[in-house]
Amino acid sequence: MRAALVSLFVAVTLGAAALSTSALGQDNAAQEMARRQAMLARLPADAAKRVFGLAVRPAAGPAHAIGDYTKGCVAGAVQLPPDGPTWEVMRPSRNRAWGHPVLIGFLQRLAAGLPTTAGWSGLLVGDIGQPRGGPMLTGHASHQVGLDADIWLTPMPPGRLSAAERDNMSATDVVRSDGRDIDARVWQPQHRRLLEAFARAPEVERIFVNPGIKRALCREAGADRAWLERIRPWWGHNYHFHIRLACPRADTECHDQRPTPPGDGCGADLDWWFTQETKHLTPREPAIGPRVSEMPFGCAALARAP
Ligand SMILES: [Zn+2]
Repeated sequence: MRAALVSLFVAVTLGAAALSTSALGQDNAAQEMARRQAMLARLPADAAKRVFGLAVRPAAGPAHAIGDYTKGCVAGAVQLPPDGPTWEVMRPSRNRAWGHPVLIGFLQRLAAGLPTTAGWSGLLVGDIGQPRGGPMLTGHASHQVGLDADIWLTPMPPGRLSAAERDNMSATDVVRSDGRDIDARVWQPQHRRLLEAFARAPEVERIFVNPGIKRALCREAGADRAWLERIRPWWGHNYHFHIRLACPRADTECHDQRPTPPGDGCGADLDWWFTQETKHLTPREPAIGPRVSEMPFGCAALARAP
C-alpha cells in the first residue's frame, strides 16, 4: 500500500514537472522575465548560463559551431530578421533568433516554399539560440550550437503580428489531453505536410515531436515513408516542433549526435513512449549547469571575446 502511494506521488510530481517543462516555450514575456530573474539570483558569477544568457551580441569571426548540441556555443551567429514574406519571429523580447548562418539561410529558403509545398502560410519561429549560443537562463537543454530551431504548430496568421502579440500570444497545442494522439479538432493535413517538408530537406538531421504527433504521422504517411526516420518522439513538443541540422562539414569542433536508428520508428520504438515507464524518465536540465571553464575550450574563449 505504502509503495503504491509513493509511486503515485512520484508519478504525480513528475507529471507536474513534465507539464511545466512543456509550458516553458509558451511562457509570455512577463513569465519569462520572472523565470530569468529567479535563475540569475541563484547562479554563480561564472555560470555558463549567466555569461551566455546575458550576451547581447554575437562573437565576431567566421561562423562555426563548437561542442555538443547540449553543451556548446556558436561563433559568427546571425539573426533571423523578425519579418519575412513567409515567417515571423515570435517572443522577440527574448533575443533568441540567432543561429549559425547555415541554419538561418535554410529556414528562409524552406519557409519560402511552404505555401506551395505544404499549404502552410508561413512559419512562426520560436526560440533558435542566443547571440553566442550556449546554455540559456530558461528552458531548453539544447539549442546551444546555433543549429536548433523551434517552429510553432500555428500557421502564420493573415496580417502582421505586433511585437506585443508575438511576446504574449499562445501557440496551438495539437495533442489530445491524454497525450496518446493528436487532437482531431485541431490537427490538420497541413501539419503533416509541414513536418514532412522539413523532414525531407537534406539539411535536416532530426526533428523532435510529441509522441502523439509521431503516432499520427505514422498513420498518415503513405508508402514513401523514409522521411519518418528523422522524426523522433520526445517529451513536450506539443505546441512546437524542433528541427536540428547536422554539424556543417567545415566545423571540425562541432560534435554530431549518433545517427537516428534506421527505419520509420513507428513500431516498438514508438510504443515505448505510451508505457508507464516514460512517466518516470522526464528529463530535467541541471539547475546551475556548467561553469564557463567547464564548457568546451573554444566556448570558454568565445565567452570572453569582446
Ligand atoms: Zn527546441
